[in-house]
Parts: sequence; C-alpha cells; structure tokens
Amino acid sequence: MNNKSIRIPFVDLQLQYQPIQTQIEQAIQAVLEKGDFILGQALKDFEGAFAAACGTIYGVGVASGTDAIALGLQACDIEPGDEVILPANTFVATLIGVLHAGAKPIFVDCDDRTALIDLSAAARAITPKTKAIIPVHLYGQMVSPRELLDFAETHKVLIFEDAAQAHLAKRDGYGAGSVGRAAAFSFYPSKNLGAFGDGGIVLTRDPDVAEKMVRLRNYGASQKYLHIEVGTNSRLDTLQAAVLHQKLPYLPSWNRERWNIAQQYNTELAPLASCGIIPMENHSGEGHVYHLYVIRMDDSCAIERQLLQEKLTAAGIQTGIHYPIPCHLQPAFLNLGYEVGDFPCAEKLAKQILSLPMYPGLSNSQVQEVVGAIALSLNAERQKLLCI
Ligand SMILES: *Cc1c(COP(=O)(O)O)cnc(C)c1O
Repeated sequence: MNNKSIRIPFVDLQLQYQPIQTQIEQAIQAVLEKGDFILGQALKDFEGAFAAACGTIYGVGVASGTDAIALGLQACDIEPGDEVILPANTFVATLIGVLHAGAKPIFVDCDDRTALIDLSAAARAITPKTKAIIPVHLYGQMVSPRELLDFAETHKVLIFEDAAQAHLAKRDGYGAGSVGRAAAFSFYPSKNLGAFGDGGIVLTRDPDVAEKMVRLRNYGASQKYLHIEVGTNSRLDTLQAAVLHQKLPYLPSWNRERWNIAQQYNTELAPLASCGIIPMENHSGEGHVYHLYVIRMDDSCAIERQLLQEKLTAAGIQTGIHYPIPCHLQPAFLNLGYEVGDFPCAEKLAKQILSLPMYPGLSNSQVQEVVGAIALSLNAERQKLLCI
C-alpha cells in the first residue's frame, strides 16, 4: 500500500518537529560552528538535564537503547555467569542487551491485564546466581516501584530498569529511571523522546556506576590512552543530544497529549468490551505515558486479528503489534532452551494484542475514526456469523 492511501499513520513525527523547527535548527547550527561532535558540551548539558527530569542524578549518553542496556548492566558489575531476570514479552533489544553483557537471561511471564512482568513468577525464577531483574516499563507504564523495591530487598538482587518506552512515566511517586541501581532509555526516533537517528542513555544515582559507564562507552578509557577495561565505542552524538535537549521541555505536554488520547480511546472503546475488545489496563493513573496504546482481542472476539488489521489498513489506518513473537520463541534464541508453552500469558498476548495509532497531534476525530472503523469491521463479522 502506498503512502497516499494512509490517512491515519501509526506515528507521525513531523507533527512534533514542525512547531519547533527553528530552534532545533539553531541548536544544530551551534554544534556545527563549535565542532565538538564527540562528547561535546551539548551532550553534557543534555545528560544532566535528562537525569534531573527523570528524578535522578547522572546521565551517560550512548549510541542506542540496546547499548544502554548492555553497557549499563556491565557498569552495575553484571558478569558472565550471572543470571538476569526479564519478561518474555519485551522488545528483543532487552534480551540482546543481557546477552551482550555476557549474562544469562532468565525469562518470566507477564500479567495479562497490563502486559507487565509478573513479579510472583520472577520470585519463582530466583536462584543463587540471580544478580538482577530488568523490569520493562512496557507501553509507557511503569512496573510498580513499590513492589519492585520490595522484590529487590527480599531477594537481594539489583533492579535495572528498561525505560525505553517510559520517558517521564511515574508511579507510586517514583519517576521511570529513578527506581533501580541504573536504567536504560532509548531515543529511537519514534520513542516518546526521539532523536534524529539512534541514541540512548543510562541513568543512575550511583557515582561508581556513572564513572564506569563513562569509561565503557569510550573504549574503556579512564583517561586518554589509558584503558582499564575492555569497553567499546558507544557515545550519544553531540548533535543528537542538542536536538534532544531542545525537545525535552516539550516532553511533558506531548506525554499529556498521549494520555488524553488514551482516555478518549478508553471511553470510545468501552462499548466494545462485550465484543472482546479490551484495552490494556492502566494501574498507574496519570503516570502512564502511553508510548503505545494497546488493545487485546480476547477469545470472544468475532474477528480475527489479522482480518481486523487488514480491514483497518484498507480504511487507511495503520496499526502495529508489539510484539508478535515473544523473545523466547524467536529463532535466533532457541539455543536458550525455551519452548512453546513456557510462558502462556506472553504467548497468548502475542496472538491477541493490537497497537492503535498513538502520537501527539492525533486528533479527536481521528481517534473516533479509528474506533468507528474497528466497530464497523467487528459488526460486519458478527453479521456473517449470525447468518451462518
Ligand atoms: C526501543 C526499545 C529498546 C531498544 O532501543 P534502541 O535504541 O532501538 O536500541 C529496548 N527496550 C525496549 C523495551 C524498547 O522499546
């Protein structure tokens, strides 16, 4: 399908860029004139500002969210042989980060109402080798900080947050990225705070973790040409940091817009609950930042997910699935030894979920149109069933 026939895209990044185009261009120009492209002043400024906005102290910018997880875990002294617990239903980058850190990933199932990690399942996965748990603040909703801190205390493990979908999310009075020993964020363009390319950051309030991160991202150097650990080359470009810093002040209002859009979806979708269309639950009130708006089509739903998606596409409405195959069943990772049936909830969600268009600038009438198209498709299928 060509772009012309898409009337409501899944995301629209232009709407975020156009209103602040001039100031972003000026910030880029300033970096070009200074020429400090690597580890420049605009990077330092942004790292501090983003950490503060998230309610913590240190920020260390890296090349991607994936690297933020891999290097962040190493900065927390996670070593080969250590076990790290993570949810089976996350973006594969969480898993790749654990593997790059050399640790052993231990998957656990999720809660089917929120899609967040099931901490009672995590408790059962604890062994003497468990060093860390990675709560993924999926879709923009934090895993309960209170329950996480209890969990970490009880089991003597550290918390490493994957906050790649949760910029400025809040719950129980905590900000995403301020709960654990450290946290990883991604600035992939479509995230709630997105760069003009790849980027990521590790946040922490621990000065030792921050210092080790500064070395790990820069060839393991403690000073120029003195390398005290292996490290790599993974830095957030000064140019990207300058762009992100210009966008940061707008993030609260963009998140607020996402929240309002989600409320409208909730209201308009409510009558479809009896037809098996169930929005993922929000257990964190206004602290949910709705990186994605996800519905579940349960067994009572008269229409197959794929057919609904096709009908929406035909109506010019783009949707997504986050994610269609849980990590433990991805071909690349079958050597980890997991199989179908290991995580029933994650596997069921993978078959039932559908992400609807969600981005700042999506209008009320567009939301209405999306829900209207879902209802129409659903009714057409129910009519067919009744006629059989
Ligand atoms: C986007 C994302 C990542 C990876 O970030 P990149 O910047 O694309 O490497 C990790 N975890 C989750 C949950 C994500 O959504």
